[in-house]
Amino acid sequence: MPESSPLSPKFATLAVHAGAAPDPSTGARVTPIFQTTSFVFNDADHAASLFGLEAFGNIYTRITNPTEAVLEARIAALEGGTAALAVASGHAAQFLAFHTLLEPGDEFVAGRQLYGGSINQFNHSFKKFNWNVAWADATDPASFEKAVTPKTKAIFCESIANPGGIVIDLPAIAAVAKKAGVPFIVDNTLATPYLCQPKEHGADIVVHSLTKFIGGHGNSIGGVLVDCGTYDWLGSKHRYKTLVDPNESYNGLRLAETFGNFAYAIAARVMGLRDMGPAISPFNAFLILTGSETLPLRMARHCENALAVATWLEKHPKVVWVSYAGLPSSPYHGLQQKICPKGAGAVLTFGLKGGYDAGVKLVSSMMLFSHLANIGDVRSLIIHPASTTHRQLTDEQRAAAGAGPDVVRLSVGIEDKDDIIADLDQALANVE
Ligand SMILES: *Cc1c(COP(=O)(O)O)cnc(C)c1O
Repeated sequence: MPESSPLSPKFATLAVHAGAAPDPSTGARVTPIFQTTSFVFNDADHAASLFGLEAFGNIYTRITNPTEAVLEARIAALEGGTAALAVASGHAAQFLAFHTLLEPGDEFVAGRQLYGGSINQFNHSFKKFNWNVAWADATDPASFEKAVTPKTKAIFCESIANPGGIVIDLPAIAAVAKKAGVPFIVDNTLATPYLCQPKEHGADIVVHSLTKFIGGHGNSIGGVLVDCGTYDWLGSKHRYKTLVDPNESYNGLRLAETFGNFAYAIAARVMGLRDMGPAISPFNAFLILTGSETLPLRMARHCENALAVATWLEKHPKVVWVSYAGLPSSPYHGLQQKICPKGAGAVLTFGLKGGYDAGVKLVSSMMLFSHLANIGDVRSLIIHPASTTHRQLTDEQRAAAGAGPDVVRLSVGIEDKDDIIADLDQALANVE
């Protein structure tokens, strides 16, 4: 779509068109895969202006690439942000999100109902940088306020929490971040912008694993961070050095001053991605871009199927409980209707009467479902977190993350819902 379009396109239109245009040199309608490491400069002055951040343009695919630029513009449009940065994985996005904000000795508060890998990243690898996480309870916004100290530089949570079927009260946690004067980062992987736009609920930064629903087909790892353009770096009582200090590697440029409401995305690119290097490949960006075009269709079907499965499981005699915010019986149903009214997503957990052994037996009895450690695929997926994704955590951490011994997690696909339920039915027949 031309930048100057008089249309004000809605979500499904943005999903197909935002950021993309026919290729000006070939007329190719679909965004080409720019499978190149480097880009030729017009002349020495052009090269100098690119390296000095005085002009936008491509130098080297570690930092920018035209296929990736379309993906970035697409996700920024879907999230209502000012700019985005696509990277190699969801974890790389989280790493660069914090790398741009934190100095050694800084703290951030995170709700502990998180993807297991994020708990590991924060507890272990981040400690090597002396970035210190303070854990709060994502279901209790007041616990975030209690964890804030003068060293706190950011607040982090998920919108729909993985794997527990919990919807988080984003506006209440945003209010804590505002009071503390720090940016609010939301991992919106499970909801996707189709179900929830965290910016509307007070987020300043959104991160995603593109590996999941946005790519949607289980074929590529990727991540993105989105700058909502809402945080006032120059007016902050905290000093975010990467954004506000003169940058020695760019002739003393102050990024927040020069780039205004997209300075954070620029900083994550020209410092974090430039120096740490977790670039996404153009080919993965292409596959994820193609996936993004059907996001609204897929999410609507994912949610419809997941609600049917949750409703069926809730009545099954071998199932003790079902955690899915789309169920009227869920304590998070009210929040779901407020935060993501179009649906509660495709990930749900349930508890088996038979505990740990029944969980292991169930996953090995599935025929249509695949037993693997992913979510957000068109295919239905199943895992027993206690024996796999959450294995490295302590019992207490597992319980807090909603991954006790009896818990089974489903990522409900877009197949026919009768077939999905029939597979669960035959597998549950094998379980004590
Ligand atoms: C998968 C996932 C991540 C990590 O993303 P990768 O692409 O696997 O690095 C982070 N957060 C959530 C909620 C996820 O589901």
